[in-house]
Amino acid sequence: MARLRKILIVGGGAAGWLVACYLAKAVNAAAPDAIRVELVESPGIGLLGVGEATFPSIRGTLSAIGLDERRFLAGATATYKQGIHYRHWVRPPGAPGADHFFHPFNAPSQRPGGPELLPYWLLGEAPAGLSFAEAVSMQTLLVGHNRAPKRLRDPDYQGPLNHAYHFDAALFARVLAEHGERTLGVRRHLATIGRVELDEGGAIAGVVTAELGTFSADLYVDCTGLRSLLSGGAMRSPFRSRRDVLFADRAVAMQVPYPSPDAPIPSCTIATAQEAGWIWDIGLQRRRGTGYVYSSRHTSQERAEEVFRRYLGPAAEGVEPLHIRFETGYRPQHWRRNCVAVGLAGGFVEPLESTGIALVELGAYLLTHLLPGDTGDMERAARHYNEMMVARYERIIDFIKMHYCLSQRRDAPFWADNADPAGIPDALRDKLAQWRHRPPHRLDFVGDLEMFLVSSWQYVLYGMEFRTDLEPMRSAYPRAEEARREFAMIQLAARQALGDLPGHRELVEGLCREH
Ligand code: FAD
Repeated sequence: MARLRKILIVGGGAAGWLVACYLAKAVNAAAPDAIRVELVESPGIGLLGVGEATFPSIRGTLSAIGLDERRFLAGATATYKQGIHYRHWVRPPGAPGADHFFHPFNAPSQRPGGPELLPYWLLGEAPAGLSFAEAVSMQTLLVGHNRAPKRLRDPDYQGPLNHAYHFDAALFARVLAEHGERTLGVRRHLATIGRVELDEGGAIAGVVTAELGTFSADLYVDCTGLRSLLSGGAMRSPFRSRRDVLFADRAVAMQVPYPSPDAPIPSCTIATAQEAGWIWDIGLQRRRGTGYVYSSRHTSQERAEEVFRRYLGPAAEGVEPLHIRFETGYRPQHWRRNCVAVGLAGGFVEPLESTGIALVELGAYLLTHLLPGDTGDMERAARHYNEMMVARYERIIDFIKMHYCLSQRRDAPFWADNADPAGIPDALRDKLAQWRHRPPHRLDFVGDLEMFLVSSWQYVLYGMEFRTDLEPMRSAYPRAEEARREFAMIQLAARQALGDLPGHRELVEGLCREH
């Protein structure tokens, strides 16, 4: 038996530092330095620098590593995100009918012992004109009025409304680095890996730097971003492309100013559909982060920039764009021998619904809990890890594809191609067929393998005007009167909460002042 004594993380972006903090906190909780966690990052090779929107799991992760919320908000210029507002997704702008919907993070209201509201909404028992999200969650109204999800006095990472954050990705990595080094005892080395040495069994024997010589460890975590220096490079772990399902493979990004320093900050991501993709628009404390994610098969870089600049208007004048290439896909063997890829080194799903950092959190969590004390047991841990990761990736890809394939847009080849059944994974097609006759149920999903809960599927499905015909089953839903009362209560509670919750900018600035 060979005890696991040292883990080396290679790469100091959000992935590297999140894994370092999470591992260091978890494995050394009882005995400091029982397992040494070290990180080597290049002083010359920068971070990707995009990746500004997160998923609600981030609250649990930041809380688990013991990072003070005010320090995080101030250091990463973070703001609150309560969901995603989808514009022009249902149909193109100008077409008759609604062209937008909101995906809130709060699950639909469910009074203990009360009826589940979705079937009654489908049967037309909610007040006329209310979308599913408006009818079952107060968050739609509150976000529409730029309210924060919590009050100044609420404990760290808690509040009445479910939320995630928006932040500056590079500053976020810096906050984590400081926390990891100062508080959690992570040892940091500044050096660039030039070469990776393998042993006779094909495992990593060491990583070689010009500045500090060779580093070796029992386990290596590859967080070198899209380069995937250890996993894709030295270990030749193959990449499974899913570009046949999710076409977007380029982005053009810009950071633009607010029209005035006290401009309201939306507390949701705004995702606006375009002719060959969509634009993200994220409000940070002192600037907006924006980007057009598009398919290079359906538009050119020049045209994408033109569309993007038209969207941004005068805010983009004089701003240099950053052009990025990526591909949706993943390495089925994230963990191979003594090397685990986390973050972009392991894979990426185009950023709709912001799963990049959530997958890093998952990687850190799985690694921590599957970590074998005996290095001889690495293969078994790797198998388990890879099975869980692959399942998550495939389900995320299905969920994202659903946004595209349900759109009624046919105004450009990108949207027509997205509706082609050939590009819709079988599992998704099967779910959609069932949901024509009954709504999505918790039983359709296997908890530990999913990132998105049933409520997210429901919000997107019905936001996109999917039709489920429950009429033949009406007799199975006898609690219409109770449901109508619930719908009315939610509207009332939402109007009261408008007075209780502070404005988004007011809360963020208040918390940062207290830092
Ligand atoms: P990087 O940030 O690229 O960091 C790589 C690190 O490796 C750096 O520290 C670098 O110095 C180091 N390195 C590289 N080579 C060497 C070497 N030879 N020696 C030593 N060190 C080395 N995620 C979200 O959650 N939400 C979003 O909204 C979102 N939007 C995105 C939009 C786009 C267009 C793209 C492409 C990604 C987006 N992501 C998003 C994903 C997100 O950016 C990443 O998941 C996240 O930033 C983690 O990146 P990383 O740490 O894996 O890689």
